[in-house]
Amino acid sequence: MSEPTFASLGLSADLLHACLDAGYLTPTAIQLDAIPPLLRGQDLLGLAPTGSGKTAAFALPLLQRLAAGQRHAQRRVRVLVLVPTRELAAQVGEVFRRLGASCAHPPKVAVLFGGVSVNPQMMGLRGGADVVVATPGRLLDLLERNALRLDGVEALVLDEADRLLDLGFAAERERVLAELPAQRQTLLFSATFPQEVQALADSLLRNATRVEAAAPDGAAPAIVQRVISVDAGRRTELLRRLVQDEKWDRVLVFVATRHAAEQVARKLHDRGVYAAPLHGELSQGQRTEVLAHFKDRRYDVLVTTDLAARGIDIPGLEAVVNYDLPRSPNDYVHRIGRTARAGASGIAVSFASAGTEAHMRLIEKRQNLVLPREQVAGFEPVELEPPPQPEAGVGGIKGKRPSKKDKLRAAAGLTPGPAPD
Ligand code: AMP
Repeated sequence: MSEPTFASLGLSADLLHACLDAGYLTPTAIQLDAIPPLLRGQDLLGLAPTGSGKTAAFALPLLQRLAAGQRHAQRRVRVLVLVPTRELAAQVGEVFRRLGASCAHPPKVAVLFGGVSVNPQMMGLRGGADVVVATPGRLLDLLERNALRLDGVEALVLDEADRLLDLGFAAERERVLAELPAQRQTLLFSATFPQEVQALADSLLRNATRVEAAAPDGAAPAIVQRVISVDAGRRTELLRRLVQDEKWDRVLVFVATRHAAEQVARKLHDRGVYAAPLHGELSQGQRTEVLAHFKDRRYDVLVTTDLAARGIDIPGLEAVVNYDLPRSPNDYVHRIGRTARAGASGIAVSFASAGTEAHMRLIEKRQNLVLPREQVAGFEPVELEPPPQPEAGVGGIKGKRPSKKDKLRAAAGLTPGPAPD
């Protein structure tokens, strides 16, 4: 059978051009499955792992809808995309702008997120916008200022819907939904599919088509996953060794706290590695700049919190390192999904120490993985007992109350075990 093409999906000539210009030669699995029902105006629940091309999967058919619809003297918001993070907002907005540039009447795209001055965004909304990509908080702020109206929205996208759920966005999300007309096309994308997403899907979608780009759990096969056993206190040194020995020139390192991001980046920097921290305490300007410098290869290593775990697209990212393990097994998939995007391959290395080995096993269990434990010469672990603090080393971000993970662990019957041999 011949390879599927974008042309066979029913996209207009303008949008086929846009795909070519963007370098998209053949549709990805999610694009193949999602574009035809979306062009028919159907609601959709997309289970799409990170890096699967899901942004274009919804942007292309929605752009076609915009091109086909009536034009009004005063633009009104016809497509609303809600996203959980500022970086993702900027990224999704860019995809709409780039693909939309090939249309006879390129749509006006407004990107709204917090952490930066509200005035330029208000100015940008003057005269209306066709597409709004927004984080919920800033969107509500601008609604309260009467900077835009949502009563003409024809299509709503909830991108990274699981994240929109678990960050305590529920109240904001409901307030936004209340502004929207009931009659609309609704699209919900999620890389993972916890029960809450199902409940949200049930409440928002009508006769939705469900598309799945790949197995919902587990990571893309192109990612080589490794676990290295190392004492917690030697992780920075080991990281430096790996970056140098493996000649990685673009590595994303996940740590549990902002403080750790600063500290690890500084230590690497002091030892001659081009490293920078990225976390939520930086100003939005700094965050944008650090990410841009990482993308244009001024830094080799970005040390970040889970701020960068979702949605961020860094072309050519060779390796992801879990310096601290993610709290939730789902976040493991999101983190390692930053590499091996769009068909490339990548490496994901997790550090496991005596205190975090049990948690690593829990992640493997939840993701149906069995990963061998490696040791690096000169870094063989010597600590056998977990430190007295039960969660030390996993993150240092938790309070005394048992977390969801603690409960999962208890339910799985896992207790901190001996160090691997
Ligand atoms: P996403 O999952 O939307 O973040 O997309 C991941 C990456 O895949 C982005 O860099 C896109 O530009 C790229 N991409 C999306 N669709 C295609 C395609 N059909 N062919 C090649 N690359 C694509």
